[in-house]
Amino acid sequence: MDTTPGLVCAHHHLYSSLARGMPAPPGTATTFQGILEQIWWRLDTALDLDMIEWSAKLAALEALEAGTTGIVDHHESPNAIEGSLSVVARACAEVGVRVLTAYGVTDRHGLDGARRGLEENRRFISEGGNGLVGIHASFTCSRETLTAAANLADELGVGVHIHVCEGPEDHEAPIKLKGLTSDQWLLAHCVHLPTDHELKGTILHNPMSNLNNAVGYANPVRFANPVALGTDGIGGNVIESFRLAYVMQRSVDVTSSPETAWSWLETGWDLMPEAKEDLVTWSYQPMDPWHLAFTSGVRPIRVEVDGRVVLEDGVPTMVDPVEIRAKASEQAARLHARL
Ligand SMILES: [Zn+2]
Repeated sequence: MDTTPGLVCAHHHLYSSLARGMPAPPGTATTFQGILEQIWWRLDTALDLDMIEWSAKLAALEALEAGTTGIVDHHESPNAIEGSLSVVARACAEVGVRVLTAYGVTDRHGLDGARRGLEENRRFISEGGNGLVGIHASFTCSRETLTAAANLADELGVGVHIHVCEGPEDHEAPIKLKGLTSDQWLLAHCVHLPTDHELKGTILHNPMSNLNNAVGYANPVRFANPVALGTDGIGGNVIESFRLAYVMQRSVDVTSSPETAWSWLETGWDLMPEAKEDLVTWSYQPMDPWHLAFTSGVRPIRVEVDGRVVLEDGVPTMVDPVEIRAKASEQAARLHARL
């Protein structure tokens, strides 16, 4: 058995874990915008605080069971904005994992929706919550809203977590965000971002989500920015993201080494340095990129977060995983009935 620090999932949506099994949408989405309209924007408007709580607990549990002790979350619930980030933070604390959350501001629900989203970020962070300022994406925001979010982040001394050029619909992001970004920003996806863009920040690569949405391959090795690995809401298993990131890179360049994708996984510790103090003992050794790229089913046996054992013999110690799965399933049924 081998030991590593706690892993960091650099882009997650804890609110999305109740989506699996949802009823088929009214129409078949044929574009990225269509996927947002048919699936995610119907789901997020139906969320209430109870659903958010159990969705976050389920996602936090699955992260812990994959050795991920730090989650960079991007949250949206347009009909349950106020208090939502605290619900997410409490859910993760109960399970025993760390979270750095943000409310994704958007103009899709009018100026009042954007204002309330900004206010939720301000409230959570100024009350001491571990947060960033969230923006959904530049293509759903006016320049005024983007500037307000960037100014709020400056005022609070934090970065901004935003989706950038995930699909072709967001190709104007480099223009709309010109002059606003800093090294503290987190830029999720960047699939359609030109290589010679001028945006500052860490690029968050989510290979499984990009394949699932048929948006293309980001090929993040082409960027000068730091790159970190996320799941975009499809579980919390960063080793799975690493393995996929490696073979995706290999598919366009047969000389690629798994060490590159592993270095992206390690960038997670720059975003949540506290996770580097956590200890994960694994079912496999050595935890080396050349081994892990070709080894499936590696799982944590013991996890220690902030000096406290939160998983022992492969089982969470702070919560009952059977209860979390049962309650999440009840909330999923409520959510699906609203769609
Ligand atoms: Zn995302």
